[in-house]
Amino acid sequence: MANLDPPSGQPVDCPPQLLAPPSGRMSSSPLASRPSVDILEELQLIAAQNLEKLEINKYYDIIQELGKGTYGKVDLVVHKIRGTKMALKFLRKKTTKLRSFLREYSVSLYLSPCPFIINMYGIAFETDEYYIFAQEYAPAGDLFDIIPPQVGLPETVAKRCVHQVTIALDYLHCKKLVHRDIKPENVLLFDRECRKVKLSDFGMTRRAGSPVKRVSGTIPYTAPELCDNSRREGFSVDYSTDVWAFGVLLFCMLTGNFPWEKALPSDGFYDEFVRWQRRRAGAVPSQWRRFSDEALRMFRKLLSLEPLRRCAVKEVFAHLGHGWMLDGDSASGSGQAELSPASSSSSSCEEDVLVDRMKQQTLSPVCNVAQGGVVMETVPSHFASVSTSSSVSSTNSYERVSRDNSSGGRILVTTPIEICV
Ligand code: AMP
Repeated sequence: MANLDPPSGQPVDCPPQLLAPPSGRMSSSPLASRPSVDILEELQLIAAQNLEKLEINKYYDIIQELGKGTYGKVDLVVHKIRGTKMALKFLRKKTTKLRSFLREYSVSLYLSPCPFIINMYGIAFETDEYYIFAQEYAPAGDLFDIIPPQVGLPETVAKRCVHQVTIALDYLHCKKLVHRDIKPENVLLFDRECRKVKLSDFGMTRRAGSPVKRVSGTIPYTAPELCDNSRREGFSVDYSTDVWAFGVLLFCMLTGNFPWEKALPSDGFYDEFVRWQRRRAGAVPSQWRRFSDEALRMFRKLLSLEPLRRCAVKEVFAHLGHGWMLDGDSASGSGQAELSPASSSSSSCEEDVLVDRMKQQTLSPVCNVAQGGVVMETVPSHFASVSTSSSVSSTNSYERVSRDNSSGGRILVTTPIEICV
C-alpha cells in the first residue's frame, strides 16, 4: 500500500503562504486561511451555482484546436469583446460527470496563483454537449513537442524546465494535492527555450491520502507499485507517485527515450534498472551510462523502488547545480544559476547555439509495428513506445499518438494507461 505520510516524500519547508493551515483551525479571514479541502469544496459549490449555459460562438471566435482526446478537446479562442486569447477546455458531458468537471476546474483555480502553474480566468460554463473552462493560452505548445526523440533536450534547457516544474510540483504537494498525471504533455510552454513553462491538467489531481481504485493499464511514467496487476486492493493517493513520474520525465527530457515501457519485471529495461537499484549488478544499465554520478544519485532517489524511500520532489534542487550529462552540452551544468537574469545573459550565446540545434532536430519516424494500440476509455494514450532493438542495451524511443487515435495511416504501438479514479 502506498504510504500516506512519508517522512521523505512529503514536502517540507514550504513558504508559509503556500501551506494549508491545520484542519479545523478557526478563522475570521477569507478562503486563504482555511484548510485546502474546504476551499476546494467551496470553490466547487460556487462554480456549480454559477454554471451558465452559453452559446460559444456568441462570445468567442474559435481559432484552432490545441489538443484533443476521449475527454473532449482544448481550443484556442479569442474573446469577442475583450480580444483576449484563451485556451478553452471542453469536457464532453457524455464521458465527464459534472462532479469531475467541477473538481478539475476548482483544483486548477485553486493552484493557479503559483507562477509555474497554468493560470485560470475564472470562467466556467456549459453547452448542450460540453462542460467548459478557460485557461491562459500557452503559445509554444507542450514539452512533448520539443523533446527531440532519441536525442533529448540540451541540458541547459532541460534544467530550466525542470527547475520550474519542481517548484510547481512542490507547491501542489505543499497544498496536500497529488497531480497523478505528470508527463511532458502536461507541461505547457510559453517559448521553445523553456524560459517560461507551466504545469497543467489537473483532471487526475486528488488530495493526498484519498482512496483510489485500480482501473487498468500503465504508461512509462506509472510507478511500479501501481503497475503490479497482482495487487487487487485499492491505493491511497501519495506524493511518491508524482516523484516517480517526475524522475521518468527527467530521463525522457534528457535522452528523448523512455527508460522502459512499463515498470514491471517483465520489461527488460526496467528489470536491469531494478537490479542496479538493488545493487545486485554493479554496472550502470547501458541507457543510464550517459549520466554523471551526480545525476545518477538524483535518479536513484527519485526512482527509488520503495515509495516510502522515494525523496521529495524538491530534492531535485540539490542536484541542479551539478552537471548531469557526461557528454554535457550545458558546459556549466548550473541549472539554478541559469535561471537568474544575469547568468542567463552571460551564457546566452552558447544557449542560442544549443537551442538552434534543438529546433533543427525533427521527430524521428515511427518504426516497426509490433502490435495494435490500446486506448483506455477515460484517458487517451499519448505514446507509441517503440523498441529500437531487442537488446536490453537499447532504449525505448517515443512518439505522441494523436489524441483521436488516428496516426496518419501508421499503426503505432501504444502503451495503455494506468488510471486510478
Ligand atoms: P490537457 O487535456 O489539458 O492535457 O490538454 C491536451 C493538450 O492540449 C495539451 O497536451 C496541450 O498540447 C494542449 N493544451 C492544453 N491546454 C493548453 C493551453 N492552456 N495552452 C496551449 N495548449 C494547451
